[in-house]
Formats: sequence, C-alpha cells, structure tokens
Amino acid sequence: MAKKGDARGVIYLACTECQERNYTTEKNKKNDAQRLELRKFCPRCRGQKLHRETK
Ligand SMILES: [Zn+2]
Repeated sequence: MAKKGDARGVIYLACTECQERNYTTEKNKKNDAQRLELRKFCPRCRGQKLHRETK
C-alpha cells in the first residue's frame, strides 16, 4: 500500500508565458527534487510553450 501524503505530490504545470495552469501531474519529490519543465501545448497562447511546475 502506498502511503498517503509525504513523498507523492500533485503538481501543476503552468505556462511560463501566460501563467495559466494547463496540466496537472504527480511526482515523487524524493526522486525528483528539481522543478519540472516540459514543453506542452498552451490553449491560451495557442502553441507549444514551456510549462513549469507550480503548486
Ligand atoms: Zn500560455
């Protein structure tokens, strides 16, 4: 059984240009302490933009 709470966190991926939170995902904070950065489609900017992890 997975423990609730500590290591696993829900994070949001926000567009770095318009700050819109377009995606949600999960990550293991122990394995990946750095901020996630992914290129994804932003509907507001209508194009591929860099999305960064936020809470
Ligand atoms: Zn955007």
